[in-house]
Amino acid sequence: MNTEPLIICENLVKIYHLSQENGGSVEVQALQGMDITVAEGEMLGIVGASGSGKSTLLNVLGGLDRPTGGRALVGNQDLGQLSPTALDQYRRKTVGFVWQQATRNLIPYLTALENIELPLTLSGQVGKSTRQRARELLDLVDLRERRDHRLDELSGGEQQRVAIAIALANSPKLLLADEPTGELDTVTAQTIYDLLRHLNKQLGLTIVIVSHDPGIARHVDRVVAVRDGKLASETLRVQKADSEENHLVELAVVDAAGRLQIPREYLEQFNIHHRVQVELTGNGILIRPPEREHHSHDHASASSPGEQEPAALDSIEVPSSLLRVWQSLKSRLKPSSKNHNGDEQ
Ligand code: ADP
Repeated sequence: MNTEPLIICENLVKIYHLSQENGGSVEVQALQGMDITVAEGEMLGIVGASGSGKSTLLNVLGGLDRPTGGRALVGNQDLGQLSPTALDQYRRKTVGFVWQQATRNLIPYLTALENIELPLTLSGQVGKSTRQRARELLDLVDLRERRDHRLDELSGGEQQRVAIAIALANSPKLLLADEPTGELDTVTAQTIYDLLRHLNKQLGLTIVIVSHDPGIARHVDRVVAVRDGKLASETLRVQKADSEENHLVELAVVDAAGRLQIPREYLEQFNIHHRVQVELTGNGILIRPPEREHHSHDHASASSPGEQEPAALDSIEVPSSLLRVWQSLKSRLKPSSKNHNGDEQ
């Protein structure tokens, strides 16, 4: 894998405007400042809850949607700045798409070979070279044996192979796959992941796969988790120091402004709402609930081990200037602070 980046997203923002029945509109911030870099030849998985912005990111990278703010660079093309014609060229020449529903762009009564020939012909390729190219593509996805079968005679996995062959027809640099195994059983899904890995290695193809499958880390070089339109964490394959073996390590992501997303379950466990205390320790940075805020939100809960009691009021050092102001106020208030009975209030 090359270490040169193919994709660079910087502070990428995508806002949709949803029309309301009353004639107004509401904003949906699908991407809220996403920073992500993908190396050329890398196979990347993107995971995250539904609505977290995965498909939006894929649509922006595929040139199907324009960013509202920030930058999305693929190769040396700034997708937000391309003219409509240049964006159209980008879609035709640089990217290939694979969708969850393999049949989305396929015709059931055509054979596997004809289904691949059709978009080649539509894109302007004619004659013998079209058939030859279609055959090459079928070989690439290991479907030569089934080339004369109609689409509706193929299994779900085979149909997805035809869809992948079509996505490769324009020899893209980047393949974007949205839940490519979402409708397949586990065994078939494994064969599709194997095929994608094979294409990644053989063609040096950069592949970005959006998935709900938490097990995707086994099939790709790196997994990034998206939360609320931002990158939250990355799972990397790290080689053990004393062997050839790899193991997976999940790391929180620090963005360009130094912000990091803390897993929601950690925040809930320590009853953290808006603020945390950040302390330097000998070997890192400790993040913990602020003592006063934590107690004020959580009167009923027992203190965790090691948790400190809030500082006693009488131990708080009051600046001498404040004391002087207080003394003078007290002396001025004294005469009026007696009631009619002469009792001090
Ligand atoms: P995911 O792929 O992680 O499920 P999406 O990228 O599809 O998330 O959606 C992110 C957010 O943007 C969601 O709140 C979704 O409702 C909204 N959204 C996505 N596409 C559109 C659109 N075309 N118009 C309006 N809102 C959209």
